[in-house]
Formats: sequence, structure tokens, C-alpha cells
Amino acid sequence: MASTPISSSTARRLEGKVALITGGASGIGKATAQLFAQQGARVVIADIQDEHGQALSNELGGSSICSYVHCDVRSEPDVKQAVETAVERYGKLDIMFNNAGISGPLGRQIVDSEKSDFEKVLSVNLMGNYLGLKHAACAMIPAGQGSIISTASVASLNPNGTPFAYSCSKHAVVALMKSAAIDLGKHGIRVNCVSPAMVATPMVTKALGMNEEMVEEFNAAHVALKGVKLKANDVAQAVMYLASDESKYVSGLNLVVDGALNILSTLDS
Ligand code: NAD
Repeated sequence: MASTPISSSTARRLEGKVALITGGASGIGKATAQLFAQQGARVVIADIQDEHGQALSNELGGSSICSYVHCDVRSEPDVKQAVETAVERYGKLDIMFNNAGISGPLGRQIVDSEKSDFEKVLSVNLMGNYLGLKHAACAMIPAGQGSIISTASVASLNPNGTPFAYSCSKHAVVALMKSAAIDLGKHGIRVNCVSPAMVATPMVTKALGMNEEMVEEFNAAHVALKGVKLKANDVAQAVMYLASDESKYVSGLNLVVDGALNILSTLDS
């Protein structure tokens, strides 16, 4: 008897793919790991929060589906090792999500700032992205395909009150993505960014001291799109589009997930 074809509504969108997610133990990275695993991917979570990362890996089904590796994205040996873990355990690397990031100190004027703080933000947000891109590309080039996605931010378009080092790092992440999209296109590798507005993740709740309700109030007041709340899973859905074959001709894009906040801010200024 012929097998019943799987309908498009039940087919898992990342079936058979292998993904590595930096900063995967929390917030947007965690929501993406959960969605990717649900959609049939094998997932390696790379983070510095070992307890959270290991717990998430167990929650998603353990090492046959999801593994955790300690990886400080500022360290080239750590990033290389994380990529090797994906290839050794699951046979290949299809998707690299360079997502780890920090906000850096808030409220400092440039003249009062410390060089060490500026370096730290750039080393996690930008250097971590560069290392992830480089080592993912090394694993993907022999296969002649792959999708690399970086988390930038609406602060990549306009500083809009965000700490200057953070905004600077996110502008640079987009510039890096554009250069890499050109450089790696000849190998069949796509490179894109996702740029969310504010989401109530630990980065925001700890750094800004805002709870979920305060974030929702802020977005309701400033974002053009009304009546919709932005959650980490909504960002994960955009990442999944860029990771999946549904976006097979999309490269060099900064996919903004902000309810038209950036357009409204441009009109305001
Ligand atoms: P989060 O704090 O919940 O998650 C960030 C993760 O990155 C954490 O698990 C943390 O341990 C990890 N991390 C930090 N430094 C690391 C390092 N050196 N090496 C490896 N992992 C490291 O915050 P989030 O909001 O989910 O942030 C994810 C990404 O989204 C960041 O790049 C952030 O800049 C970006 N972003 C967040 C928002 C927002 O409003 N939450 C908006 C736009 C962009």
C-alpha cells in the first residue's frame, strides 16, 4: 500500500536539520531551541549558563535530540568545539544561530564610559558573532549549504535610547552579516539577521529592571502595531523561517520583528 503523504500542516519544518544556538539557555535562544526541536531539528545549545543549558537539553529529550555545551562565544576554541560537537554528534551543521548577547551598562554617557565595558559588549555581541560565523562556515562549506542567522536588534537601525555600545555592536552585527552573505553566497550559504523590539527576557528584566507587564506597556505605547504582544517565541518563529528551506533564496536580510517601531521612531524624529 502506498504511504500517505504528510500534509503540509503536519510536516515538521526543520526535519533532519542540525542547529547550533549560542545563548540558547535563556530568552530568545531558549524559545528557539524549543521550537527547533519541536520542528524536528537536532539542537546543540551553547551557553555559559551550564545548569540552565543542561536542564533545557534534558527537557528537549536528551542527547539523541539536544545537547548542551559550555561555550563562551568570546573564546575561539570554545566556539570551534561547539561546532565540532554538532558535527560529531549529529553528523553535520545546517543552521547556526549566533544569538548570545549582553546589554552592557545602562545610562552611561560616552564621556563617563569605561573602555573595558565597551570592549566587553563588542567582544560578546560582535566578536562572538564573527567566531560563530567563521566556524559554522568552515563546517558548512564542504556541504555546499547552510543558514547562518544572527540576532541583531532594532538598535541596529537606530540607537533610540539604547546603550551606545550595544547599539554600536548591533549595527556592526548587521554589517558583518551583509559582508558574510556576499562572501559565503558562492558556497550556497545564506546569512541573515533577525532584529527584535523589546522582549521580556532575563536580559531585559535583569538589566532594565522591567517586568513583563512593564515591557508590554512600553511596547503598547511606542510600537505602531497595537493589540499584539511580542514574545520570545515570536522572534523564534522569524528565526525558524530564516533557518528553514522556506527562505531558500533569502540572504543578506535584516528581518525586523518590531511591529513597525523603527518606522514610527523615524517619523517621530
Ligand atoms: P537572555 O539574557 O535571556 O539570553 C542571552 C543568553 O546569552 C543567556 O543565556 C546568556 O547566558 C548568553 N550569553 C551571554 N554572554 C555569553 C557568552 N559570552 N557566551 C555564551 N553565551 C553568552 O537575553 P535575550 O533577550 O534572549 O538575548 C538574546 C539576543 O537577543 C541577544 O543578542 C540580545 O542582544 C538580542 N535582543 C534582545 C532583545 C530583548 O528585548 N530581549 C531585543 C533585541 C535583541
